[in-house]
Amino acid sequence: MADFPDRARAVVIGGGIIGCSTAYHLGKLGWDDTVVLERHKLTSGTTFHAAGLVGQLRSNANITQLLGESVKLYETLEHEAGLVTGWKRNGGLRLACNAERWTEVKRQATVARSFGIEMDLLTPTEAQQMWPLMDVSDVVGAAFLPGDGQANPSDITQSLAKGARMNGVRIFEDTEVTGIETEDGRVKAVNTSQGRIECEVVVNCAGQWAREVGQMVGVNVPLVSVEHQFMVTKPIEGVTSDLPTLRDPDRLIYFKEEVGGLVLGGYESNPNPWATDGIPRDFNFSLLDSNWDHFDQFLEPAIGRVPAMGEADIQTLVNGPESFTPDGNFILGEAPELGNFFVGAGFNAFGIAAGGGAGMALAEWVANAEQPYDLWPVDIRRFGSPHRDTEWVRKRTLEAYGKHYTIAWPHEEHESGRPCRRSPLYEHLRVAGACFGEKLGWERANWFAESPEQAIETHTFGRPSWFDRVALEHQATRERVTVFDQSSFAKFMMVGPDAEAALSWICANDIAKPVGTIVYTQMLNRHGGTECDLTVSRIAHDRFYITTGTGSATHDFDWIARNIPEGMNAQLVDVTSSRAVISIMGPHARDVLSAVTRAPLDNDSFPFAAIREIAIEGAPVLALRVTFVGELGWELHVPTENAVGVYEALMDKGAEFGITNAGYRAIESMRLEKGFRAWGAEVSPDYTPLESGLGWALKLKTDIPFLGRDAVEAQKAAGLTRRIACFTVDDPDVILLGKETILRNGERVGWLSSGGFGHTVGCPIGYGFVRNADGVDRAFIESGDYELIVANERIPCNVQLGPLVDPRMERVKA
Ligand SMILES: Cc1cc2nc3c(=O)[nH]c(=O)nc-3n(C[C@H](O)[C@H](O)[C@H](O)COP(=O)(O)OP(=O)(O)OC[C@H]3O[C@@H](n4cnc5c(N)ncnc54)[C@H](O)[C@@H]3O)c2cc1C
Repeated sequence: MADFPDRARAVVIGGGIIGCSTAYHLGKLGWDDTVVLERHKLTSGTTFHAAGLVGQLRSNANITQLLGESVKLYETLEHEAGLVTGWKRNGGLRLACNAERWTEVKRQATVARSFGIEMDLLTPTEAQQMWPLMDVSDVVGAAFLPGDGQANPSDITQSLAKGARMNGVRIFEDTEVTGIETEDGRVKAVNTSQGRIECEVVVNCAGQWAREVGQMVGVNVPLVSVEHQFMVTKPIEGVTSDLPTLRDPDRLIYFKEEVGGLVLGGYESNPNPWATDGIPRDFNFSLLDSNWDHFDQFLEPAIGRVPAMGEADIQTLVNGPESFTPDGNFILGEAPELGNFFVGAGFNAFGIAAGGGAGMALAEWVANAEQPYDLWPVDIRRFGSPHRDTEWVRKRTLEAYGKHYTIAWPHEEHESGRPCRRSPLYEHLRVAGACFGEKLGWERANWFAESPEQAIETHTFGRPSWFDRVALEHQATRERVTVFDQSSFAKFMMVGPDAEAALSWICANDIAKPVGTIVYTQMLNRHGGTECDLTVSRIAHDRFYITTGTGSATHDFDWIARNIPEGMNAQLVDVTSSRAVISIMGPHARDVLSAVTRAPLDNDSFPFAAIREIAIEGAPVLALRVTFVGELGWELHVPTENAVGVYEALMDKGAEFGITNAGYRAIESMRLEKGFRAWGAEVSPDYTPLESGLGWALKLKTDIPFLGRDAVEAQKAAGLTRRIACFTVDDPDVILLGKETILRNGERVGWLSSGGFGHTVGCPIGYGFVRNADGVDRAFIESGDYELIVANERIPCNVQLGPLVDPRMERVKA
């Protein structure tokens, strides 16, 4: 290879659709000094044997937008690159065969329209007119997405590769990456079967091999290979080339037209993992043996839907392995373990649908050192410690695969790989009737049943079975006192002579406060969007204790660590496992706490937003006077080994005040009433604190510089075009789950970021951003008449800008 380079700006590993798309977009962004290294031939991994369905709708607006970018690109790529792509926008049909699925589909249609995607609801007869070969005798309704389509995966990839070359990118086949060199926590070079290439950036697009490639440099890419099959028939009379793709989730199957015949595939509930001991070295352009015994489960349902399948001649049964992930979403972004090492992998059998958009987003992430917009559902930093164990990843991934087509119930929890991370209080709470949910491996009490045997959730789109139990916990917190086990909070310590200076730069609120002060703050990106939403407590002149949400552990650590200004002497340490968190909340919180500690708890000695070390049962407890429910309360951060002793003392002394356990569902209900924002919903990298109604937490009145300051100042001067508002519905039986469309004076202006029920106010509550290109202020919001679209129905609602239970703050601070 005479022209094999010894240096390049970016090296993309993998010549499947993701690597080629990333390289194509890097080339477009002017990164023409990019090379793609493919171990064998382009498409020879997984891409060559994909079925080629291209759907767009996901449960997140930005990921839906990303898939929409694929469609936009596929529309023009053939013309641009001069190669056929097999792209056709023939639309996608989705069937519902029972009342609950129909509710799900109607809710999806609302979500789709919220996100700007056309999705039409059809009667069974209308659906059948589009797909005459299908039997609709059991169909309740259907949805049609005219923007969906299908493509030829290999042709699309070759076109992307050609487009990349046209923009200067060089592609080397038969070139295996064998090692990666690093220096000072960053990528330095890749070693290949053809030689060494020094580079600034590595992008790992190695498909199901991405985990191995990551392991070369200690980067965790939590994906595993699973067998995935589809059958192809010979031509069937009546199958026309304009037939939409057809998804029949109640039968776990899909169909697509191919050369006059049909492709039939599905997502079985008992998937077969593959290559559990490693992928064979020579697995290129390879398929697995057809597994008819396993595929057989789809045949009867398929013939039931399309009787002509019963007579069709079978051409082939393709069995190909694909990489799947524990939550069914792909993995994108810069690895938290290593600078300038990016990942785009784990595409869960929608890599063709996602390829165009994911490659675009990844290329922009590389070129601009930041994601183009909030991509949290696919962000590599959403994972945590359980995901480092491949066996745990496999268990969870197989569950996620098996649920691909099952109804996505509200509040549904995973079952596999549990219990994994248990707080010291786990057994006490279990015996007390806790019904646990799981986040990042942590078992967390969602609510408490009367007995452990009754701690079971049934699934419904209606009022959940735990509604009344949560109401009791809610009421107990508002009227008496409850304890919440919040041990899963992520906790960091920032220490060093420059800890204050570093955090002053990273935090949007003023954390340069006296020892003993807690500050609630956002951390902003340079556009003013909120990356982190947490509390920073000063426990010594050179020590800050940082508490953030369970799911944000990896992300927030990464954000803070990477934004410590160069040269500053400040170290960030994860201390999550060292302390359990027992929160005691409610008007009697002080009474109970003072019965277990001699520390003064009166308002002067221990004011709101203060942190003190207090002694309880021989334990040095960090007590934080904060509230997330709008009541008087403390978070007790207890050395792990003392957690049980402190908990038992609180329950013992609290008995006379009617103390009870309470869980995360009650927290959710109370935070909605109080108007506390949730990260990933009302607070995200896409929204500034001004838009999220958190302008009060910005240190704009000081002259302290901070990351994102210029952007929020500019926005403040220019005015807002979207702003968070609270919506309530008078009818208590309406179920708000989030993503419902917001109509202002009949016009669509946004969708709910959160939805739930407030048990004190006794009504459904939602939050959502109201958008208007000409500006949104208080008067604009308050002057509108609002409705929400819930499962395709228009429901009148009320709007409010302040919290629903604010007067209680007087009691909180008393
Ligand atoms: C049966 C089946 C049906 C499917 N149907 C659909 C569908 O209808 N719609 C859809 O959207 N998706 C579908 N998919 C999924 C889709 O095929 C994948 O998501 C997509 O192809 C993944 O692309 P990729 O680029 O990530 O991986 P790959 O195509 O596997 O590319 C990764 C490349 O990296 C190379 N590589 C690995 N290690 C190294 C190394 N050390 N050095 C150099 N190169 C290396 C490999 O050789 C490989 O070519 C299907 C998948 C299967 C299995």
